[in-house]
Amino acid sequence: MNINKIQNYEVWFVTGSQHLYGAETLQRVNEDSTAIAEALNDSDKIPVKIIFKPVVTTPAEITGLCQSANSSSNCIGIIAWMHTFSPAKMWISGLSMLVKPLLHLHTQFNTEIPWDDIDMDFMNLNQSAHGDREFGFICTRLRVNRKVVVGHWQSEKVQEAIGIWSRAAIGFNESRNLKICRFGDNMRYVAVTEGDKLEAEKIFGWQVNYHSVGELVESMKAVTGDEVGALIKEYTEKYAFAAPPDEPVRYQARIELGMKAFFERNGYRAFTTNFEDLFGLEQLPGLAVQRLMQKGYGFGAEGDWKQSALVRIMKVMAEGMQGGCSFMEDYTYHLDPERPSVLNAHMLEICPSLAGDKPVIEVHPLKIGGKEAPARMVFTVPAGKGMVATLVDMGGRMRMIVNPVEVITPKPLPKLPVARALWMPEPDLETSAHAWILAGGAHHTSFSMALNTDHMQDLVEMFGIELLLINKTTRIPDFKKELRFNHVYYQFNK
Ligand code: MN
Repeated sequence: MNINKIQNYEVWFVTGSQHLYGAETLQRVNEDSTAIAEALNDSDKIPVKIIFKPVVTTPAEITGLCQSANSSSNCIGIIAWMHTFSPAKMWISGLSMLVKPLLHLHTQFNTEIPWDDIDMDFMNLNQSAHGDREFGFICTRLRVNRKVVVGHWQSEKVQEAIGIWSRAAIGFNESRNLKICRFGDNMRYVAVTEGDKLEAEKIFGWQVNYHSVGELVESMKAVTGDEVGALIKEYTEKYAFAAPPDEPVRYQARIELGMKAFFERNGYRAFTTNFEDLFGLEQLPGLAVQRLMQKGYGFGAEGDWKQSALVRIMKVMAEGMQGGCSFMEDYTYHLDPERPSVLNAHMLEICPSLAGDKPVIEVHPLKIGGKEAPARMVFTVPAGKGMVATLVDMGGRMRMIVNPVEVITPKPLPKLPVARALWMPEPDLETSAHAWILAGGAHHTSFSMALNTDHMQDLVEMFGIELLLINKTTRIPDFKKELRFNHVYYQFNK
């Protein structure tokens, strides 16, 4: 048993066959499948438990298995493999009702053909080269979303691909169960933070609920001075201070405790705020939001519930990996031809999971919103590889845009009192910004230094939404064609 498995998540390993070959062959199918499932379960590249399921040989068994997967709260996906031929009409009923993500592993038990010994018994047993094609046909014929992984089950590449898909399945599972708390509405007149919450609940499963800021203020009133004192002690152990912590920091501690209690009472794991809607609050939540993001909550500013959900999902997908994840915003450019880059930050709310050194807690006026100077953590995201993603509502469909970036070290920024990251997007700033703007990409994003574009691609395919990838191969004329083709495709594929 691999102790690094993320708790309770199961992927079921399902092998299809039939009764044509006799009991002895089916016994071998069972043994070989058990060995593969155990090897995948033991792989440190796969972060979930792989659970072997007895070989299925009839339509009733297949349908029953899919029903069990659908109703199991621990099961986040199914891996299917056809060791022998498994006539695929047997799979129609089951696959048609399956709501869990599906990975089709196109592998075979042996690596090499046993030239001297191969006989018809061997040929009857080791048929995935054609059995998996029959299964592939019915998946395609039924328009079943699935990931196909090809290669020997012991190879690193195959296990890595299954691991990446498993993390996407964790994100999909989180999404189906996610509740997002909106404190206040969206920022007035802003377009991109809007969207169809009904469509979002249908596609992603998100419950996006409004609460007045007054409810947060009530929750903060229930926080005791001792609780605030204990949290300030924690701050002093974990962070540096520009000045000894005084009332503005204590106020953010009170917001943190009030929010956390409210979320725990109501089952929220992601939230939004809006600086225009702070009635009864003395400061814009800053340090408090940063702390809650670090604890794993999703966050979007100015009412941006889509980005808040995405931050939460990406945090869950990256559990146990190196590298943080945060809400972000493209702020201002460095157009030096040597190193064209974009400075990312927000008014306050960048997650310290991205910090290299100890963040410094500082208090400065915000200059917008008309409230008191808020406390926030200030730090610079260290150099390294990252990936930025955003979600926009195109009217009738959702579009995700993903762009790998290289975080670089900025010059000192002594007068900038917010957390920040400077990066060069792929393939270059000019092409990236051009493509992003043509795609209608938001200025708000979810940024991860743990996940890569493969994780996001698998996730997007589980949702069945549109993905636009901006990377090293992006060329603007081709990207324009992709936008036009997608527009037509998604009209027909409803
Ligand atoms: Mn913003």
